[in-house]
Amino acid sequence: MLSTSDMTELTWPDVPPLEAIDADAASGRSDHFDGRSFFNPGVRAGRGWLDLLRAALTARPRPWPRFIENSARAAPATEVSVGNVVLTFINHITFLIQLRGLNILTDPVYAERVSPLRHVGPRRVRPPGLPFAELPRIDVVLVSHDHYDHLDVETLRRLEAVHHPRFLTGLGNGALLRRIGLRDVHESDWWQQTALPAATVTFTPAQHWSGRGLLRCNRTLWGGFHVRGEGAAVYFAGDTGYCRHFQDIRRRLAPIDVALLPIGAYAPRWYEAPNHMNPEEAVRAHLELGARFSVATHFGCFRLSEEGIDEPLQELAAARLVHGVQASAFAALETGETRQFETTGQSQVQPVRAASVARQLGDALEGRRVRVVKRAVETIGGERAGVAAV
Ligand SMILES: [Zn+2]
Repeated sequence: MLSTSDMTELTWPDVPPLEAIDADAASGRSDHFDGRSFFNPGVRAGRGWLDLLRAALTARPRPWPRFIENSARAAPATEVSVGNVVLTFINHITFLIQLRGLNILTDPVYAERVSPLRHVGPRRVRPPGLPFAELPRIDVVLVSHDHYDHLDVETLRRLEAVHHPRFLTGLGNGALLRRIGLRDVHESDWWQQTALPAATVTFTPAQHWSGRGLLRCNRTLWGGFHVRGEGAAVYFAGDTGYCRHFQDIRRRLAPIDVALLPIGAYAPRWYEAPNHMNPEEAVRAHLELGARFSVATHFGCFRLSEEGIDEPLQELAAARLVHGVQASAFAALETGETRQFETTGQSQVQPVRAASVARQLGDALEGRRVRVVKRAVETIGGERAGVAAV
C-alpha cells in the first residue's frame, strides 16, 4: 500500500511554461513550441493514454537479473591533455566526461529507483560504476530532460552540496532545479549556446517528450548537448528517437569527436520507436553525425522496456556488422570503465553567437507574439543576458 510519503516527486507546483523564443528568426515563430507545450517538429512522439493501456496489456518483458556486480574499475583522469576525451561510464546514461580543464556529468543518477515512488518502479540492478564520493571535481552537469532516469533530484542536490557545479538544461526545467536548491542553473532553447571557461556548449534538438507526472506532459524542453572544448568536441544525445536532427547537428556543429548515443529502452518498437532509438538506428546516427567515435548509453542498469539486459549490446554488434562500423568506432563501455579517446584536435572553443541571439530576440519582438515573448524575456532574460555577455 502506498502512502503519501511515497509520492516524492509526483506532484510539484504548477510552473508557468517558459515560452520558447523563436528558433526560426525568419518566420518569427518557434518550430517546437506552440505557446503552451513543446513538440517535435513534424513527428508525433510521446505517449497517449491508449498507448499506455495497450503497452501494459501486451507487455512481454524478458527477464532481467536482480543484481550484477560491476567488473570494471573506474579510473578518472587527474589531468587531460588537449585533444583527448576521457569517459567513465557510471551507469545507464550517467557519464563522467573529462576534457582539458573541464569535468562534466551527464544526467547524473545515483538513485536506487528511477520513479516518482520510493518503493515502486525500475530499480537498479548494479551499483554505480564510480561511487559518488570518488567523483572528481565536477564543473558542469548536463540535464537533458526531466524524466526520472535522467533528472534525479537527490543526486542533483548532493552535487550542489559538494561540487557547486553549473547546471545546463532545456527551457522550463529551471523552475524545478532552482526549487530543489540548485543555484547556478542555465536553461537553453535548441541551438542556443552557453560559454564556459573551457568550452562552448550548444543545446541540441532531440526527438522525445517530457513530464514527471501523469498530467502536464511536454511543458519543459528536452534535448542533447554539444560541448566544444579545446581540441575535442563531444556530443551527448540525451534520450531520443531516430530523427533528422543528427544531420542538422553535423551540419551546424561538426566536428564531433565522441558522440554518446542511446541504444536501450527500444522494445516494443510500436511503442518506443518515436522516443528511443534501437542499436541499428544508433549506428545510423553515428554515421550521419560523422562522429569519429561513438559510445553507447541508456542500457544495462534499469529495466525500462521489454528487451533483455544484454540485447542492446548484441544488437549493437549486429548493426556494426551490417553498416561496416568497427567495434572501436562505436564502443560500449563496461559499467565503471574509464576509456580515453584521442581526437583529431580540430575543435576550438569559439565565442557564443551573441549577435544571433540578440537578432532572434529582436525579430521575435517585432512579431505578433510580442506579449508572449516579452514575458519569456522577463522570465529567462537573466540566462539570455548571461549568454550574450560571457
Ligand atoms: Zn526520457
